[in-house]
Amino acid sequence: MATEPAYPIIDHTYDTVVVGAGGSGLRATMGAAEAGLKTACITKVFPTRSHTVAAQGGIAASLKNNTPDHWTWHMYDTVKGSDWLGDQDAIEYMVREAPQAVYELEHAGVPFSRNADGTIYQRPFGGHMQNMGEGPPVQRTCAAADRTGHAMLHALYQQSLKYSADFYIEYFAIDLIMEGGQCVGVIALCMDDGTIHRFRSQAVVLATGGYGRSYFTATSAHSCTGDGGGMVLRAGLPLQDMEFVQFHPTGIYGAGVLITEGARGEGGYLTNSEGERFMERYAPSAKDLASRDVVSRSMALEIREGRGVGPNKDHIFLHLDHIDPKVLAERLPGITESGKIFAGVDLTRQPLPVVPTVHYNMGGIPTNYHGQVVTIGADGDPETVVPGLYAVGEAACVSVHGANRLGSNSLIDLVVFGRATGLHLKENIVAGISQPELPKDSADLSLSRLDHFRNANGGSPTAEIRTEMQRTMSAHAAVFRTDEVMAEGKEKLAATYKRMEDIHVTDKGLIWNSDLVETMELDNLISQASVTLASAHNRKESRGAHAHEDYPDRNDAEWMKHTAAWFTGWGGKGGEIRIDYRPVHEYTLTDDVEYIKPKARVY
Ligand SMILES: Cc1cc2nc3c(=O)[nH]c(=O)nc-3n(C[C@H](O)[C@H](O)[C@H](O)COP(=O)(O)OP(=O)(O)OC[C@H]3O[C@@H](n4cnc5c(N)ncnc54)[C@H](O)[C@@H]3O)c2cc1C
Repeated sequence: MATEPAYPIIDHTYDTVVVGAGGSGLRATMGAAEAGLKTACITKVFPTRSHTVAAQGGIAASLKNNTPDHWTWHMYDTVKGSDWLGDQDAIEYMVREAPQAVYELEHAGVPFSRNADGTIYQRPFGGHMQNMGEGPPVQRTCAAADRTGHAMLHALYQQSLKYSADFYIEYFAIDLIMEGGQCVGVIALCMDDGTIHRFRSQAVVLATGGYGRSYFTATSAHSCTGDGGGMVLRAGLPLQDMEFVQFHPTGIYGAGVLITEGARGEGGYLTNSEGERFMERYAPSAKDLASRDVVSRSMALEIREGRGVGPNKDHIFLHLDHIDPKVLAERLPGITESGKIFAGVDLTRQPLPVVPTVHYNMGGIPTNYHGQVVTIGADGDPETVVPGLYAVGEAACVSVHGANRLGSNSLIDLVVFGRATGLHLKENIVAGISQPELPKDSADLSLSRLDHFRNANGGSPTAEIRTEMQRTMSAHAAVFRTDEVMAEGKEKLAATYKRMEDIHVTDKGLIWNSDLVETMELDNLISQASVTLASAHNRKESRGAHAHEDYPDRNDAEWMKHTAAWFTGWGGKGGEIRIDYRPVHEYTLTDDVEYIKPKARVY
C-alpha cells in the first residue's frame, strides 16, 4: 500500500521509548533517563491526568510504622490474595523491594501523611494481615490522605523532567513496529496537528494501563482502553490471565465512581436492607476487610437473595457516619466530596449507596520480573523473551496479582517493576548505539488501520458498537459466571466484533479527531474483551475473581496454570481466538523464603 505520500512521516531515534505516563510509565521513564539513555515518553493524555491520578487509598510496603510487619507477611498475603495463581518469584521480588521503592518516592517528593513521630502513616487494607494470615489486620498501606496516586504522578513527572526525558504529550501510539519477532519501534499520531511519528528504538516499554472501559460501568477513566494490549495482540503475541477482572466492592451506585477501600480501612462497614453487617457471616475474622473478590461476591449474594437496599433492592450501604468527622476530613477528604457530588450524600450523617464495580485487570501482557515481555516460543518454551519489548503496570501481567489483586498492591507494582525495567534497560542497552534502518513497511499496519477507520463509511457509529460491547461484558462476564451465560456472551460479542466492519467515523480530518482515536481505542478494547470472555469460558473452575457457578471450587490439579490467549485481525476481520497455557512459577526467587503451598483461602 502506497501510504507514504498521503501521510508524511516524521522520524525519531531513541534508545528507549516508553508508551504511557501513569505511575509505571513515569517510573520506567525516570529510570531509563537517569541511566543516561536517550528516552522518550509518549502519552495520549497529559502525564498527571493518567488514571494513576485517581488512586486514593495508598501503596503497600512493610515499613512497620503503625503495626508490626515483615516482607514475608506481605508475600504470604499477596500469594493468598492471588489464590495461588501469582508467580511467587515475582511476588518475592515485589514485596522485598517495596519499602525501598516507597522511600524513593518519599525522597522524590511525595507528601505522605504522617504519624505523630514523623514516620509515614500506614492504614489497614483488605487482605493485608499480620503473622502469615494468622494475626489481626496489619497497617501496611502508605497514604497521602486519599490522593496517593495524584501525589505520586506529580513527583514522578518532575523527576523524569529533571533527568531530561523527552515527552510527546497528546500523541496516540497506534502500533508496534516488529521485525523478525523483535520490537524495533512504535508509530504514533500527534493528535494536535495530525502528523505521524515513527520512533525507532532499541526498546519499547508498554505502560498503557488497563482496559476497564470494555465494561459499561467501571471506576477506570475513559482513557483506560488497554491500547498496549491491543497492539500486542495485533503483533501476534498472547495476553495472559484475561479472565480475571477485579470488581471493587464500593463503586458509588449509578455513577461507578470509586470509594477507596481505605474507607473500610478507617473503620467503615457494609450493611444490607436489614441493617445487618453481613460481612461478619461471610468472613468471620477479616469481615469488611476481606479481599475484594470475597467482599464483592458477598454483596452480590445479598442483593440476589433480596437483601439489597433502595427501591430496586439492587445495592448496599457503606457506613462512615459513625467515624469522627475530623478524621474523615483529614484522612478521606476526597471521598467525602465524591459522596456529596455523585450520590448527594453527607457521609458524616448518612450511609452511601455502593455496588461492586469493575476496577482492575489482573490479566495483561505477560512479562518476567525484569519487565521483559515473554511468549510461548516455537519450541514450546513458555518463557521466550520478545526482544526489545517490555511492559509494566496494569497493562502487564508479571504475574504478582494472580487471580485477585489486593488493594494498594497495584501502586507498589507500578513503582517496583517500573524501576526494575529501568534497571534492566540500563544493564542491557548501550546508549547512543547506531540502530539498523527500520523495515520499509514499518508503518504499513499503523497507517492502513488509521486510513481504514478514518474513511470508514458504514452504518454503525463507534459509540453504538462500544455500548453494545460494554453491555455484553457487564452482563456476561460479571461477578458470577456460568457456562451458559458466558457462551451466550461470546456469541453476542463475536457479532458485535463483526459489526466493526460496518463502522462509521464522521470526522474525516486529522486534527483533534477524537472520533477516529476513539474508534482505534474501541478496536483495542473489543479484541481484549473477546479474549477475556473466551478465557473465562475456557476456565472450568473458580479462583480469585473468576467465580464460576458450574464449577464452584478451585481445581489446582487441572487449573493452576496461566491462560495465554491470541486473537487474529482487527476492525471486524479475523477474530479467531487461540488458547494455550503457561505454568505458574512454583518457586521463590531466593532461598530466604520457601514456596508457599496452596491451601484453602478463608478470611
Ligand atoms: C479510581 C481508582 C483508584 C485506585 N486506587 C488505587 C489505590 O489506592 N492503590 C492501588 O494500589 N491501586 C489503585 N488503583 C489501581 C491503580 O491506580 C492502577 O492500576 C494504576 O494506576 C495503573 O497505572 P499504569 O501506570 O499502569 O497506567 P495508567 O495510570 O492508567 O496510565 C496509562 C498511561 O498510558 C497512556 N496511554 C494509554 N494508551 C496510549 C496510547 N495509545 N498512546 C499513548 N499513550 C497511551 C495514557 O496516556 C497514560 O499516561 C486504583 C484504580 C482506580 C481506577
